[in-house]
Amino acid sequence: MENGIGNLPGLKNTWSALRKKKPEVIWWSLIWFPYAIPKQAFLLWLAVRNCLTTGDRLLVWGYKGDTQCGFCRHGLESRDHLFFRCSFSSRIWKNCMQRCNIENPDIDWLNVMDTGYRQWKTKRMWGALCRLVLQSGVYHLWRARNEIKHNGCPKTEEQVLRSIYWDVRSRFSGNGRFAKTMESVNLCLNWNISFSVLV
Ligand SMILES: [Zn+2]
Repeated sequence: MENGIGNLPGLKNTWSALRKKKPEVIWWSLIWFPYAIPKQAFLLWLAVRNCLTTGDRLLVWGYKGDTQCGFCRHGLESRDHLFFRCSFSSRIWKNCMQRCNIENPDIDWLNVMDTGYRQWKTKRMWGALCRLVLQSGVYHLWRARNEIKHNGCPKTEEQVLRSIYWDVRSRFSGNGRFAKTMESVNLCLNWNISFSVLV
């Protein structure tokens, strides 16, 4: 049977099409949550909807300028390349995720969003931290991308990382009220967050 229920590749394609079609609904919990930073949440929402002015989209609109990735200069710039397949972005993403105790983070956009949706919606500090790191990572990588595209001014990995660390620490400072567990103590140490967020 060509398109029967037992046609697994067909089912896989359907699921893939569905999650691409309504991502903003499926992944809402990654965008809006108590510790979200509004301007960063908004940018993530644009990224989820693939509405950022990335090179691949500019090409479709007939843009004749440079559409290469400004970070690695290796291939067409797209959302999925910037977040986080690009060698520059992936190193930053991996560094941040490892500080969240995720040793081998996925760098595929749809997989990151799926994992986040399934695992990070939790009251544990870890869940809030991972969601905040995702928002902050996308935000600061996009800003760094714009600095190159508009001002020809590349930032180093360390500079982008420092911006992410700063935002994450600042957002939790005096704000958090998380259960004091081995995990949350460890996360505070990893991110240099005050233990006062633990109760
Ligand atoms: Zn790149």
